[in-house]
Amino acid sequence: MADDIVHKDTGQGGAVQRSGREVAAPQPYQSLIPKRSPLEDALGPAAGFGVTIKNFFSKTVTEQYPREPARVKPRFHGRHQLNRYPDGLEKCIGCELCAWACPADAIYVEAADNTAEQQFSPGERYGRVYQINYLRCIFCGLCIEACPTRALTMTNEFELAGPTREGLIFEKQDLLAPLADGMLTAPHPMVEGTTDTEYYRGEVTAPTAAQVDWVAEQRPDDPSLAAARTRAGAGEGQETR
Ligand code: SF4
Ligand code: SF4
Repeated sequence: MADDIVHKDTGQGGAVQRSGREVAAPQPYQSLIPKRSPLEDALGPAAGFGVTIKNFFSKTVTEQYPREPARVKPRFHGRHQLNRYPDGLEKCIGCELCAWACPADAIYVEAADNTAEQQFSPGERYGRVYQINYLRCIFCGLCIEACPTRALTMTNEFELAGPTREGLIFEKQDLLAPLADGMLTAPHPMVEGTTDTEYYRGEVTAPTAAQVDWVAEQRPDDPSLAAARTRAGAGEGQETR
């Protein structure tokens, strides 16, 4: 301990502890870096400028964002998306696994039962309320790993700033994937003779004529009917096994 040291000159540059034991005096600092010659010292700054000059002639990497769209990697984690099956039914079954997996508590899900008149997804349940709070989300992707139906994925969209806190809580309609060409707006019945298993296996590839007829009867003005009818008429519906 330092208190034990008595600064008493021993005549050899050392010190003596209270116990009487002599401690060696500290040695002067000696750098381990090899010494450079005067020529190397003179060329040192020029070598630094050499890096700068070399970069004058290399290809520019300046991004022109926002004048040009930013380029991100294909697996960049951006805004989430709730996906659909090829007949237009939603993939989300309201299981809440994504919400449980989220370390930031950014997801809120409320499920409801599908009925014969209101079938939004294959199987028993669908996500009636689905919210992601982008004030909390850290874009870690754990939610999409947890999703058992691949309903939830992430897009490359990153422009998520907004003027209000409320606006950054995205609702289901903000997250739901747009209808691809030929899809039929949910709700509507599942493809006849199928269960959710056929949907999970990817065996449903387009709406069928029966689904189109059901929507035409319930919602004759539905804008997705025309394209869905064409696709169903082309016989693209369900793969048979
Ligand atoms: S990306 Fe991460 S933080 Fe964001 S909602 Fe999913 S699990 Fe939560
Ligand atoms: S997005 Fe996936 S994990 Fe989340 S509630 Fe829907 S089905 Fe379940």
